[in-house]
Amino acid sequence: MIEEMQAKSILNRMKQPSAWFGVNYGMNIYRGCQHHCIYCDSRSECYRIENFDDILVKTNAPELLRKELSQKRKRGVIGTGAMSDPYIPLEKEYNLTGRCLEIISEYRFPVHICTKSNLILRDMDVLERINKVYACIAFTLTTVDDDLARKIEPEAPLPSERLKAMGVLSAIGIKTGVLMMPILPFIEDNEENIADIVNQSSVYGASYIVPAFGMTLRDRQRIYYYEKLELLFPGLREKYEKRFGQRYSCGVNHYKKLKGLFEKLCKEKNISTQMPSYSREVSNCQMDFFNRI
Ligand code: SF4
Repeated sequence: MIEEMQAKSILNRMKQPSAWFGVNYGMNIYRGCQHHCIYCDSRSECYRIENFDDILVKTNAPELLRKELSQKRKRGVIGTGAMSDPYIPLEKEYNLTGRCLEIISEYRFPVHICTKSNLILRDMDVLERINKVYACIAFTLTTVDDDLARKIEPEAPLPSERLKAMGVLSAIGIKTGVLMMPILPFIEDNEENIADIVNQSSVYGASYIVPAFGMTLRDRQRIYYYEKLELLFPGLREKYEKRFGQRYSCGVNHYKKLKGLFEKLCKEKNISTQMPSYSREVSNCQMDFFNRI
């Protein structure tokens, strides 16, 4: 089901800039997500989205954003993509993310976008303009195997398409990188997968890869994930139940080996393993300036 709605507000001020992304304001234009990743954490009860497959479209997002930005006295990083992908297929039709980016560019705010979609290339011109202030794009890659991705991220653009999009954006000077998370135990926790992600990301211009060696599972999200495991990977549900029980944090097998390999490869390829942040970039620029005078 797709339903249009009039939201009351669009920017959600973070009490602290988020530790992962250094984001000051969260923005979710869509509620629910069409990519249907089998492991999606947004299905958890704490987010209070009863049916995550129903999509709510906040059609007044651009008007709200203009109003809210015109009232802000201090700039802060606007982040989108934490709860739902801002480039779900519906975005082709609605262009709400695109219109919001135009407004962000006009008000000269920095952005941080997380996505699994190459539809972001439609907005490269406006992203290039925003990047005069700051734009950082993180593509999620849990595997670069398109066949495996068809199973676990069935409606999202393929990893090969995400990588190509990353290559295009990094070529025009936008800071791009990878969220290598989650890494699904018994499915993606092998050396070949980790090495392929790092190597391919390097080829396509990633300047950082932020990893999570494992996944989280709770309530509704766990039920959905286990149903999909039964269908797609017979026998695996039992392995998960035996190994993790009701645990929230479900780590990979061979953690030390995989982490060691990941760090070694990133070092060789000069890829940071930390998320870049606007405040760090600004202070580095200031340091450069002071060092030059
Ligand atoms: S793209 Fe992100 S928000 Fe959408 S289903 Fe996948 S994990 Fe969930």
